[in-house]
Amino acid sequence: MGTASPAQRVLLGENRSHRFAFITLAHHRCLGSGRSLPYSADRGKKSVNRQALDALKQQIPLMDYLQAHDWHPARPLSGGRWMGLCPLHEDHKPSFLVDPHKDLFYCYSCGRGGDVIRFAELYHQVRFSQAVALLHQWRGAEPLLDEAARFYRIQLHRHSEAVAYLYQRGVRSPALVEHMRIGYAPGGCLRGWLTQLGYPLPALHQAGLVTGGGYDAYVHRIVFPLESNLYGRSLSATAPSHRFLPGAKGGLYSWAQAQSYPEVILVEGLFDYAVLWEAGFHNVTCSLGTHLNALQLGQLCEGSRTVYLAFDADGNGCGQQAAQRLARSLRERGITARLISLPAGHDPNSFFVAGGDAQEFHRLLQEATL
Ligand SMILES: [Zn+2]
Repeated sequence: MGTASPAQRVLLGENRSHRFAFITLAHHRCLGSGRSLPYSADRGKKSVNRQALDALKQQIPLMDYLQAHDWHPARPLSGGRWMGLCPLHEDHKPSFLVDPHKDLFYCYSCGRGGDVIRFAELYHQVRFSQAVALLHQWRGAEPLLDEAARFYRIQLHRHSEAVAYLYQRGVRSPALVEHMRIGYAPGGCLRGWLTQLGYPLPALHQAGLVTGGGYDAYVHRIVFPLESNLYGRSLSATAPSHRFLPGAKGGLYSWAQAQSYPEVILVEGLFDYAVLWEAGFHNVTCSLGTHLNALQLGQLCEGSRTVYLAFDADGNGCGQQAAQRLARSLRERGITARLISLPAGHDPNSFFVAGGDAQEFHRLLQEATL
């Protein structure tokens, strides 16, 4: 940890437990090589392979896998453990111990034991990488965007430039990163990862994850999963700042949570959402731009509530004009709309990054005009 910046230390504070050190499943450009230490080792992080394997194992409880392969527990032991016949060889009295809590097995007859991956290796008599592939297959393919989002999340903690960018935008707590499922697209490695998991290239094209030329579409972008899209914020000043995959941006961000409040705060960007959520305003939602689509407008207007509009107070007045238009449109639909007046040149994100706190934002809410 000696070289980690404060930003890294904050974000990397989680998941530092060390479990089994598995040999890597494949050599992958973004993932390091199984023969050398993962290149993140000096920061005390878990290697991406191990994270992916842990995730796979969490999704496949050993007991489920055993029972799906016709194993039957014969008698219970203390601590929720079970004994049964060993499925790895001819067995006449139960010598196969399974601990469902630890997801481990051990056979007192043949002396073999391990986790679900080890079991798949022994049972199917395949190598480690094939066992992992079989388990992926058995679990069933995740929807493509979920798998991409998961990959990006693993990447985030491997790229200090991404962590530093988030820190600078006020995204500093692991809980917030977890809540928003924030990831990072370094570029040049998603395609390889997904095809390795068995997703066909045409599907990646169609989803917009890979360009016509075969490259990752998102490069150097912070990625936020939406309902059925992935929003990518560029770290580079030369690329377009905001990008979505083809298809709709969907409804209001995190609406399921916000809609239970009688008063909601509507912001235009996810970094605005992030700092407000972090400051304790969980009645916040985001329209991903100043233009609301019909679905988003419909969501705001269902039921009766007060909507606080906290759009950018940018120099050209675009944000405020959009907020006024939206406020009119909401009032026509019987919704109380209030306009929050941020200090000139600020959006909610920069307000908090510049030192604004929850108390001050509360005051802005109280002063919001009808
Ligand atoms: Zn055995």
